[in-house]
Amino acid sequence: MTDMEKNAMSERIEHIYTAIRSKNSSAQLLTVSKFHSTEEIQAAIECGLSVFGENRPQELCEKFPSLIAQNKLCNKKVSVHMIGNLQRNKVKSLVPVVSCIQSVDRIELLYEIEKYAEKKIDVLFEYHTGEESKSGFTSKETLYEVLTACEKLPHINPKGFMTMAPFTKDIQAIRKSFQMLYRIAQEAQTEFSQYTLSELSMGMSNDYEIALEEGSTMVRIGTAIFGSRI
Ligand SMILES: *Cc1c(COP(=O)(O)O)cnc(C)c1O
Repeated sequence: MTDMEKNAMSERIEHIYTAIRSKNSSAQLLTVSKFHSTEEIQAAIECGLSVFGENRPQELCEKFPSLIAQNKLCNKKVSVHMIGNLQRNKVKSLVPVVSCIQSVDRIELLYEIEKYAEKKIDVLFEYHTGEESKSGFTSKETLYEVLTACEKLPHINPKGFMTMAPFTKDIQAIRKSFQMLYRIAQEAQTEFSQYTLSELSMGMSNDYEIALEEGSTMVRIGTAIFGSRI
């Protein structure tokens, strides 16, 4: 990447931080690097970003072990979250690389994570709040069964919830989706006071300002940082 491209990236990142501050939010920025090269990701690291999200296990495992190791040599801590649909047979290769799996939507995945984890791993529970999305828990009952099961899984650290709003221009529909996740999280926290379920991963490039208004603690942003994916 040229210096000019890096400067432009820096400006886009600053714009997002400004938006976060303007909503009086202290939400964390998760940089979604799917489809982007390790060179572009390294440029983002040099712009000060350190936590990334990928949605395909194979791509994540191809790019991140070396990025994490190389930056560690310069005392830069880089980490990566899994944010996409996950199949059970991919968990084994993923667990040593990621610090968090945000897309847990069924109990089988938890058992598989527990089986391969050598240290505690953060998990978020994906909840279905928008019509277009296919993944995520669809009922409180199944979510609560899974939260109950976590008590017997010592390597699982339940941290909160994740959702994707519907892909629409209808701001009210998007807002409703985020409000639903907020409410689900509050109710679950009351029911499961033994955990700290404070993380609300919601908001992407096109809707993160709405998500911040509705209590997001982590926005997942790709396009608004890297430009559009080809
Ligand atoms: C791709 C993706 C994002 C980021 O999308 P942008 O519109 O590029 O910001 C966020 N969350 C998930 C789960 C994704 O797959």
